[in-house]
Amino acid sequence: MHPSRPIIVAGAGVGGLTAALALARHGLPVEVYERRTAEEIRTAPGSGLTLWSNASTPLGWLGLGERLLDAAERVVEIRNFDSRGRVRFTMRTHPYIWPDALPSLSIGRMDLAAILLAACAERGVPVHHGRRVTGYRQSGDGVEVLLDGGTATGGALIGADGVRSSVLTQLRGEVPGIYLGRTTYRGVCAGTAGLVPEVPLLFHDEQTRIGGGVYPIGGDRAAWTLSWKAPAGEREQPGREHEHAVRLARVLPAVLRDRVARTPAEAIIRTDIWYHEWHEDWGDGVVTLLGDAAHAMPNDLGQGACQAVEDAVVLADALAAGDLSGPAGVAAALRAYERRRYERVRWVRQQSVQVATAAEPRSALARWLMGKLTRLYLALAEKKMWQQMQQPPELTTHPTRVGS
Ligand SMILES: Cc1cc2nc3c(=O)[nH]c(=O)nc-3n(C[C@H](O)[C@H](O)[C@H](O)COP(=O)(O)OP(=O)(O)OC[C@H]3O[C@@H](n4cnc5c(N)ncnc54)[C@H](O)[C@@H]3O)c2cc1C
Repeated sequence: MHPSRPIIVAGAGVGGLTAALALARHGLPVEVYERRTAEEIRTAPGSGLTLWSNASTPLGWLGLGERLLDAAERVVEIRNFDSRGRVRFTMRTHPYIWPDALPSLSIGRMDLAAILLAACAERGVPVHHGRRVTGYRQSGDGVEVLLDGGTATGGALIGADGVRSSVLTQLRGEVPGIYLGRTTYRGVCAGTAGLVPEVPLLFHDEQTRIGGGVYPIGGDRAAWTLSWKAPAGEREQPGREHEHAVRLARVLPAVLRDRVARTPAEAIIRTDIWYHEWHEDWGDGVVTLLGDAAHAMPNDLGQGACQAVEDAVVLADALAAGDLSGPAGVAAALRAYERRRYERVRWVRQQSVQVATAAEPRSALARWLMGKLTRLYLALAEKKMWQQMQQPPELTTHPTRVGS
């Protein structure tokens, strides 16, 4: 591809930055346009993220293994408790990672963004902050990307601009989101006392249906989440969020409750959970989508960002193997990428939707029975499910071996 027509990536989230890095490692010219300023990103409230082995491993292929292992906490098991701290079930996840794969990791979102941005800078990938992509025009020799305040010309456009993607909207028209009926508070708090190393702890109060989780993310810090049912867009009065989060956390054990209380109000973020209907319409000509822009899913299995990472390395692999001398070849390579991803993403999304929307019985007896059945199901099905979930993507150009 001619350097004067770089591949343009809309969005510097996990998916966009990973794609940029993967493309640059194949020697392809790439530029990223991100609507947020560097300052907005730096000062955003912190939260955590689990990168399952299927995502940490390809990031390792991009040369980030050691940095990730230094910054993050491994995940070997998940423990699920009721609100009185009694174990509901435990899932060992580490035995099911693939040979030569990196471990699953819990990491601060800011730490991951910093690692990806530093790697892009080292590779000479321009990341333009404070530049919103508003649309695009395809032409005979590429694509003109419309920005608020200008345009950029590229050989391809990758819409990695999240669940409310402008690129998706132009491709398919207004895509209505599906609201899961659930909202979250998230935060990061110093100190890991009372936590189990390498084990996220999850809680659920059956009466109020308030859930929560707390897990170490490296650097003697822990990330926590609270989730509960609420109408979309509902918000506390400004300045009352911290008090609200503390009130919700009262039904959950001290290991989580105390952290919520200790987290400064300005470090707490509220997010409603939205996702998209499944569709296999990710691209047109030299334009394609990846990550949440293509397939936003419920967060219950912690796979949204992981699938964005998988998309990114498969996209770069498909483009590197393509004939990029003209738009027809670029378009063919993008369609090949999309076909390689559909089956895998559909399956992961389906698992996430199933977990997120499983109806909870009303009576205590039925809930007790369901708990038993869940444990039985997990005992029988967990091995296969976790193995399949944590399978790293297959690439045609053999990646560098993963640094341990
Ligand atoms: C509570 C919660 C917990 C989660 N936990 C996990 C987890 O543990 N593991 C996991 O894998 N996933 C998790 N997810 C899902 C994960 O956060 C998303 O799937 C992931 O962030 C998607 O990455 P992305 O790069 O596609 O999009 P995003 O992370 O949304 O990034 C999109 C980027 O594009 C920018 N942008 C948007 N519009 C424009 C525009 N028009 N022009 C330019 N830039 C634009 C945005 O500012 C942003 O930087 C969780 C989600 C939630 C809500």
